[in-house]
Amino acid sequence: MASAGRAGVGTNQEDVRRHNLGTVLGHIHRAGRLSRAELTTRMGLNRSTIAGLVAELESLGLAEQAKPSGARLGAGRPSVDVKARNGAYVLAVDLRVDGLTVARVGLGGVIQSRATGPVPAGHDPHAVAGSVVDLMRLVVKDVEPDAALVGVGVGVPGIIRADDGLVRFAPNLDWHDVPFAEILGVRLGALGVPVLGNDADLGALAEHLRGAGVGVEDLVYLSGEVGVGAGVIVNGHKLEGAGGYAGEIGHMPFQPDGRLCHCGARGCWETEIGADAIAAAIGCPPERVGALGEFLEGVHDASPELQLVGSHLGRGIAGIVNMLNPRVIVLGGYLRSLFPLVHEDVEAQLAVHALTAPRELARVTLPGLSGDSVLHGAAELAFEPLLADPVERLAASCRDADAALAS
Ligand SMILES: [Zn+2]
Repeated sequence: MASAGRAGVGTNQEDVRRHNLGTVLGHIHRAGRLSRAELTTRMGLNRSTIAGLVAELESLGLAEQAKPSGARLGAGRPSVDVKARNGAYVLAVDLRVDGLTVARVGLGGVIQSRATGPVPAGHDPHAVAGSVVDLMRLVVKDVEPDAALVGVGVGVPGIIRADDGLVRFAPNLDWHDVPFAEILGVRLGALGVPVLGNDADLGALAEHLRGAGVGVEDLVYLSGEVGVGAGVIVNGHKLEGAGGYAGEIGHMPFQPDGRLCHCGARGCWETEIGADAIAAAIGCPPERVGALGEFLEGVHDASPELQLVGSHLGRGIAGIVNMLNPRVIVLGGYLRSLFPLVHEDVEAQLAVHALTAPRELARVTLPGLSGDSVLHGAAELAFEPLLADPVERLAASCRDADAALAS
């Protein structure tokens, strides 16, 4: 992982120490809390080195020691626990076609505060950035004094150029080559430049680290919003593709001469299982698609129309199972509310279309992070620089986000 990549650089001791500091913090961040003995084992370093690194993280306000939780009482004194402290946080944004959620997230993946709002009609990027900043003001209001803002991460339903956060194409926002990272970054000023990620990729990342896919190395997260996308993790690594655009499975050609898709083609998979198709099947008026989740909660028996959506979902998943051989397929977004209603239709299609060998290993499941997978993934993206080098990132952090956003 990162340690292998940095080994060549770490020729001087200071580099090695800062790298180890980030690695220790990463372990604490992912576990939330663990014993110093466990850290020693995971890092392969001696106890005094770990003690020194933990002490430095304490002095930076990123970790604190706690009484042992007592589960690992062996011979001798139990090892002290180390847990994340609130000295650093990130702002995470889940930008959807029909809604906006912003959260303040602390180390350990703790959502400290959240705010939701509508997306401006017409999806003008500058107006969307304005709405994001309005919600950010709400979530930083009661932040602890001296807590450092160390990053901003944004999940976007589109394909993103990783280098500069250019949204190459977000069909359901009607964005083509929109430099959204730059547009939002101008408004954030001292808060720094945001990092953008594809919503489904972030959902997959979060479910892999903290949700239904912990310990699972082959996972697909299906994000069912107005559009449908997939985040794919293969052998523990994100499937990127040549340009980082892999996973646009909603535009898999599915129905010859089918309905017109927002991407311009006909019969894409998302025209059969996306929010518009689900809304039509349950009689949710098009203007209320933003409240589709609530509509679905009120449905107790699947109509033949909804069962057909379920069958289309199952048939597409069968293709994913055959091609990628995942162990877990997580259904996020509206698919989370849809799946319990059409579970049998999905399974029936899997039985017909998925090959036995990969099907036996695959489990279709709901997210472990309920509706917050993308939000958590955006937070993880924003934490990456801190975990790579805590000292450097803290030095460049913003200590008073409230004042910075007010100016
Ligand atoms: Zn399409």
